[in-house]
Amino acid sequence: MKRIVIIGGVAGGMSAATRMRRLDASAEIVVLEKSGHVSYANCGLPYFVGGVIENENDLLLQTPESLHARFRLDVRVRSEALVIDATRKIVLVKDLNTSDEYELDFDKLVLSPGATPIVPPIPGIDRAFTLRTVEDVELIVGAVVAAPKSAVVIGGGFIGVEIAENLVHRGISTSLIEATHQVLAPLDPEMASFVHAEMIDNKVNLFLGSAVTSVTDDAVILYDGTAIPAQLVVMAIGVRPDTKLAKAAGLEIGVRGGIQVNNFHQTSNHDIYAIGDAAEKTDALDGSAMLVPLANLANRHGRVVADHIAGVHTRDVSTFGTAIVKVFGLTIATTGWNEKRLAAAGRKFLAIHSHPNSHAGYYPGAKQMSIKLLVDPTSQEILGAQAVGTEGVDKRIDVIATAMRGGLTAPELADIELAYAPPFGSAKDPVNMLGYISENLLSGLVKSVQWSEVEQEVSHGSVLLDVRSASEFANGSIPGAININIDELRERKTEIPQGDLIVLCQVGQRGHSATLLLNEMGFKARNLDGGYRTWRNSPAGQTVLQVQ
Ligand SMILES: Cc1cc2nc3c(=O)[nH]c(=O)nc-3n(C[C@H](O)[C@H](O)[C@H](O)COP(=O)(O)OP(=O)(O)OC[C@H]3O[C@@H](n4cnc5c(N)ncnc54)[C@H](O)[C@@H]3O)c2cc1C
Repeated sequence: MKRIVIIGGVAGGMSAATRMRRLDASAEIVVLEKSGHVSYANCGLPYFVGGVIENENDLLLQTPESLHARFRLDVRVRSEALVIDATRKIVLVKDLNTSDEYELDFDKLVLSPGATPIVPPIPGIDRAFTLRTVEDVELIVGAVVAAPKSAVVIGGGFIGVEIAENLVHRGISTSLIEATHQVLAPLDPEMASFVHAEMIDNKVNLFLGSAVTSVTDDAVILYDGTAIPAQLVVMAIGVRPDTKLAKAAGLEIGVRGGIQVNNFHQTSNHDIYAIGDAAEKTDALDGSAMLVPLANLANRHGRVVADHIAGVHTRDVSTFGTAIVKVFGLTIATTGWNEKRLAAAGRKFLAIHSHPNSHAGYYPGAKQMSIKLLVDPTSQEILGAQAVGTEGVDKRIDVIATAMRGGLTAPELADIELAYAPPFGSAKDPVNMLGYISENLLSGLVKSVQWSEVEQEVSHGSVLLDVRSASEFANGSIPGAININIDELRERKTEIPQGDLIVLCQVGQRGHSATLLLNEMGFKARNLDGGYRTWRNSPAGQTVLQVQ
């Protein structure tokens, strides 16, 4: 009988185990898990901190007993794989209850040990909590129940912002410290600023561009000496693939520091597979190696590995890194590459910002969201998208991620027929609109200017023409802009300066119509992409508005 040993009994490992059983009723399947639980909902852990998920049992999706009952899996919790002997095909296992060690031989081995939280060697950091397992969350909840007055979360990634929200939910005065100038690295800065505003509105003390130098008994100290009160400290600056066992077993480690695997998730030893956070992934856009510590891929790849072991046909599964997170009232979702990454790679791109309603504006409850689409100007390929808003964000990013997987070009987003009635969307859905805008720009019908280009364009003589109403203009515009309402452009033609015009409105839509009209009238106009709303939330806008 074939024996398959799986190390790690959560997302990837358990997907592999259960799929394996469905494909092979007779294989012996042993799952080794060093924590006390298997198949727990690690994505739900931050919400247990906040008391949103009240019952710890709700996080425990399966038990060794339930997995044995249904799948006849041999699930061994508190069992740590200590060493893999790849040549003898043996795992040395330690029973953490008894400290006994024993050898377990395998025909196939699947590594899904996950990733470990990064904890830099900062003085005093020992008292900081990290969050990965049920045991970790029990420790944090224990500390939270003691009602600390202050908490500091170090790191503004997905887990950091979720924990900060949940600590606020517990009534704790919470600060979040992030070394870069924005939270949520997959966002570009003009999109991240919406998240900053939401966190500040919800009383998170946000310290951006701030490095921690030490942790004392009651505070976290920043590089400039600022002491931030912190009875509770949570470290969430990121994770690194857990490659300890793989390295010691002589398996190849890839360029990104994860376990190197082929298209079937086989490591350099083909009887040993690796999946989940510990393994490198293949980027869907450029085929490069990636680390994407997300649950969807861990589950997907677990299934692929079981299929491969069972001899079932499998497909390569590359990644766009599609992700979503809730920050208080906001939903933030991303897929593919962002502008920062495209620029760093020297790749040409066209950026499109749009601020549509979640559903038809005339139907009650429509909420504005902000979407950014990145497009290859030559191939028209969709390179990435980001969206921030209160409603409808998940749907739009999921549709775009699906379009990317299906190989649709950006203009083809206009062709997707999305279910529509006023409470749910618009006859021209925000996704369709991105297709229309792409079409207009890629065909050369109109040209756009990005928020980041405004300052330089103006210094080279371009004139900003704000085509909103006088009252909107009075509420704030880009300094130096002149105001002529779009409806008056024809009559007030003589007031319009000659030379390069940058046309702006609130979100870019009236600006688009005005730009076309002005060009027909013989002017040289380009539209400010995403309008005043994008500029105002960008680093350019925020710097100028702060100075005023
Ligand atoms: C707090 C938190 C929130 C998250 N939220 C989201 C989210 O909202 N969306 C999303 O897509 N992803 C989220 N993730 C990430 C997601 O949980 C991971 O990508 C996914 O669980 C990875 O699966 P995995 O099988 O690689 O590792 P894991 O699910 O982490 O499982 C690895 C297991 O292996 C065990 N193990 C390690 N070494 C050994 C050993 N030597 N012997 C035996 N057992 C071992 C560990 O104890 C662990 O239980 C979150 C993660 C955390 C921690």
